[in-house]
Amino acid sequence: MTTAIVVGSGPNGLAAAARLARAGVGVTVLEAADSIGGGTRSSEYLVPGLLHDHCSAAHPMAVASPLFRELDLPGLVWKAAEIECAHPLDDGTAGALSRSFDETEQALGDDGHRWRQVFEPVANHFDDLFADISQPIIRIPRHPITLARFGMRAALPATALTRMFRTPQARALWTGIGAHAFWRLDRPMTSAIGFALAAGAHAHGWVVAEGGSQSIADALAADIVAHGGAIETGVRVTSVDDLPPHDTLLLDVSPSVALGILGDRLPSRVARAYRRFRHGPGAFKVDFAVEGGVPWAAEVARRAGTVHVGGTSDEIVAGELAVQQGRMPDRPFVLVCQQYLADPSRSAGGVHPLWTYAHVPNGYTGDATDAIIDQIERFAPGFRERIVGTAVRSTTEMAAYNPNYVGGDIIGGAATLTQTVFRPRVALDPYATGIPGTYLCSASTPPGAGAHGMCGANAAARALAELGR
Ligand SMILES: Cc1cc2nc3c(=O)[nH]c(=O)nc-3n(C[C@H](O)[C@H](O)[C@H](O)COP(=O)(O)OP(=O)(O)OC[C@H]3O[C@@H](n4cnc5c(N)ncnc54)[C@H](O)[C@@H]3O)c2cc1C
Repeated sequence: MTTAIVVGSGPNGLAAAARLARAGVGVTVLEAADSIGGGTRSSEYLVPGLLHDHCSAAHPMAVASPLFRELDLPGLVWKAAEIECAHPLDDGTAGALSRSFDETEQALGDDGHRWRQVFEPVANHFDDLFADISQPIIRIPRHPITLARFGMRAALPATALTRMFRTPQARALWTGIGAHAFWRLDRPMTSAIGFALAAGAHAHGWVVAEGGSQSIADALAADIVAHGGAIETGVRVTSVDDLPPHDTLLLDVSPSVALGILGDRLPSRVARAYRRFRHGPGAFKVDFAVEGGVPWAAEVARRAGTVHVGGTSDEIVAGELAVQQGRMPDRPFVLVCQQYLADPSRSAGGVHPLWTYAHVPNGYTGDATDAIIDQIERFAPGFRERIVGTAVRSTTEMAAYNPNYVGGDIIGGAATLTQTVFRPRVALDPYATGIPGTYLCSASTPPGAGAHGMCGANAAARALAELGR
């Protein structure tokens, strides 16, 4: 029997393993942590009965993922909050994005029609778009018109798109979404991630997985096992020499971890490229248990699955520049998720789990907890008094929790122009390591971060082709 080893059980490792197992390959997944899932783990680790997502929270890309559609996994149920994303401002108003264009247009007032003009043509063909952008860039697109419409905007700096809007609410709403690029927002291509996320919000909603993001990992794992695969946890792979015999090897790890595992076997040009691979700023994560939820001043934020906390567009642009340059802003950009609004099973009575993280410099050694609380308190007076539990994960703790998060970089590599288009290196086959039968399949490969599994699915397709299957 043809055999494969997959190192790492993040959504990409599991996706790769599922594809291989379904093709009749004998797959074993080896995971360093005691539980599977990588960036899709969830648990009741703060207060019993309160379910927290440790990493990924919202999943428009997973819903659109060609791989997830192909696998059609039972047990995976997507749940939506009433409002996808709210962005509160100091005057008590907020920008708000609903799945419906009609509602969003109404909420954004003078900028409503503009918002619709910018995003609707792409949102209406979002699945076609995602089928193209979830593949490496050098290929013939299947939906060239939709891709061209997307590319026209995606190539721009996020700040250029901000200028299309006039109201503070729409400008801030777009900039907060654009800030998911996790890079200074005046650089080309920094619109790409935000534009896809905004279109995805209108197409599918920023949905959460019922029972936590862990359900994604559990559904993939069940599929692997059902097709004869095996998963072992608590196994940290440090060298390819320690692995049992195999025909193909897929690594769901960052280029730096791959360098360690593959060592001298890597061709020197590939090793050089992996060494040069750049990581982005860090995430400082704080989970809260909150009695009665967050008392947002802007009512719409109380109904939103995601709330972007960072004030005006200019403030966010300045903060993102600072973290990219290694400076910690006093008022960092903070992402807040209230998954329990879509999935009430995550709460314990009147106490709710609140998921937050701040953008901080890579490897930041300070404590951003107070800065996060202050930012939320700024738009939700009384928040501090409602906190009944806090769990912190700094950038270094992030990297210890998952070695792929180098310096707290949670998106698998900086969103520089080159790395947005070509990652982890400029190559016709970005998954190839240069060692026959050995592939990289993590978020450091196309299409990049997110719990969509497409890096793994694409790498598995390459491996199967090489195996002649
Ligand atoms: C705080 C946070 C918020 C996020 N929010 C979202 C979101 O809302 N939506 C979204 O789509 N994405 C989000 N993401 C990003 C998403 O989680 C990642 O892009 C995704 O998990 C990447 O998947 P992966 O399979 O490439 O790698 P990972 O999920 O990083 O998994 C890699 C696995 O490999 C294991 N591993 C590493 N080295 C070894 C080794 N040597 N031996 C054995 N095992 C090893 C790790 O323990 C880990 O389990 C977020 C991430 C974080 C941290």
